Amino acid sequence: MHKRKPEWLRVRLQGAEKSQQVKDMLKRLSLHTVCEEANCPNLIECFGRKTATFMILGSVCTRNCTFCNVTKGLTQPVDPEEPAHVAEAVKELGLKHAVITSVTRDDLPDGGAGHFARVIEKLKEAGVIVEVLIPDFQGSREALEIVIKAKPHILNHNIETVPRLYPTVRPKASYPRSLELLKNSKELDDSIFTKSGIMVGLGEQEAEVIKVMQDLREVGCDILTIGQYLAPSAKHHPVIEYIHPDIFKKYKDLAYQMGFKYVAADPLVRSSYHAADVSEVIS
Ligand code: SF4
Ligand code: SF4
Repeated sequence: MHKRKPEWLRVRLQGAEKSQQVKDMLKRLSLHTVCEEANCPNLIECFGRKTATFMILGSVCTRNCTFCNVTKGLTQPVDPEEPAHVAEAVKELGLKHAVITSVTRDDLPDGGAGHFARVIEKLKEAGVIVEVLIPDFQGSREALEIVIKAKPHILNHNIETVPRLYPTVRPKASYPRSLELLKNSKELDDSIFTKSGIMVGLGEQEAEVIKVMQDLREVGCDILTIGQYLAPSAKHHPVIEYIHPDIFKKYKDLAYQMGFKYVAADPLVRSSYHAADVSEVIS
């Protein structure tokens, strides 16, 4: 069934010129962004503000999440120059807060944790706040520890949806495993802020979203993002519902009552949208 996008999901289109400058730089440094790969609705705005979320470890993923636009299939070799190139791009953009994510590399022995650590180290040398949005490393505590030891400021792992929808939305992931990762992060180093995010509109009930928020608080998650799911194409998981902004406000208020330190909940919020706004909380 085709559903018209409601008014509140209209995106601003200013910033196209600066956006092209960012695209040119990314090409020159052979870097990928989740902004482009995931076809993010905020791309023109974010690139226009000269901010981006870098996607390391290639642009091909070993998982098959049905909501995601990233290419799936045969992975590419890891680029040893990537940590230096990410640091260079962050410098050129003048970013104070860098967000780094990756495809999931279940084919690599450490899931790419060592590469994440090298990127974190380079960015910390550059003096920026480092937020990493990591995969679940198939539940490997050792891989997580490699990332934790590099001491990012924020460790983000998105829970994405409610557990009931995992088989259709994140078939190769596991809800308890993702919660465990956030719990382990706090156990390994509780000075690192943890963050997670959920998409709504995939067919979940309000009570299920609230339960996910409670579960995240129980494992000590500090920062929460909630945004509307938008299907990248007709082949992806359909949008079941456009959630009204009032419901986002309700989730946000509830989340603060539960003790989250920072919450972004709005239809166009993405895990990395205005990520630097959290600075007052973490400094
Ligand atoms: Fe990129 Fe995040 Fe902005 Fe989307 S919201 S364009 S993924 S920085
Ligand atoms: Fe997309 Fe991440 Fe799922 Fe891979 S693991 S398909 S990049 S959401």
